[in-house]
Amino acid sequence: MNLPIIALATLLGALFGSFANVCVYRIPRRESILLPGSHCPHCQHAIAWYDNLPILSWLLLGARCRHCHSTIAWRYPLLELLMALSWGALAAHYGYTPDLLIACILFFLLWILTFIDLETGLLPNAITYPGIATGLLLQLLWGSWQNALIGALAGYVVFWSVAKLFLLATGREGMGYGDFKLLAMLGAFMGWQALPFIVLASSLIGTFAGLIILASSRRGMRSEIPFGPYLAVAGMVWFIWGDAILHWYRQFAPL
Ligand SMILES: [Zn+2]
Repeated sequence: MNLPIIALATLLGALFGSFANVCVYRIPRRESILLPGSHCPHCQHAIAWYDNLPILSWLLLGARCRHCHSTIAWRYPLLELLMALSWGALAAHYGYTPDLLIACILFFLLWILTFIDLETGLLPNAITYPGIATGLLLQLLWGSWQNALIGALAGYVVFWSVAKLFLLATGREGMGYGDFKLLAMLGAFMGWQALPFIVLASSLIGTFAGLIILASSRRGMRSEIPFGPYLAVAGMVWFIWGDAILHWYRQFAPL
């Protein structure tokens, strides 16, 4: 365990979590993620640096804007906390290696996509396209660009085919194009070997979560549950434990 790196990754995670909040709010609204600086969405008042500290400011301000006292959603500190904890855990797992950099970039993109999908039901191209390119580039540098390229293409084609079959069978759209692109991004970051697990695990998590949502809602059957978060979670699990899962699987089915 390398405590300085874990501490640094956790701190940077909180700061990038703050930036992720900017992306989650602005990208679906097609606003610039750089300018203007942070401002309250209600009163437009600029937010001073001391009111913009990850997690802390939200607690100190009592979840309210200093100027107009409108509520600041708990999504802000939650995303900062998730980013800080996951980057810290990744640093503990990988240490000071290229894998840590790849993991931090991937988790940063996946958390942003998860929160945007939960809020808007969209997985914007502005994130998935650069994500696919970044995954390919990182694999070119430190992995296998062939595996990554096949992964990106297969990821898109697999879900595209599933969606076409679903449409033919039921006459309804089951998945969006954003889901195809997210799976392509995961294939680019981790190679095609990741796809069977991600498709299977995300479907299982999705079915399970869908049943819980169905059982707890009185609105009846609605198929509009975003799929992106399940893909993101399955992707995170495979990134960290993929090798261990393959090893475990081969004990039963030697291939
Ligand atoms: Zn305000």
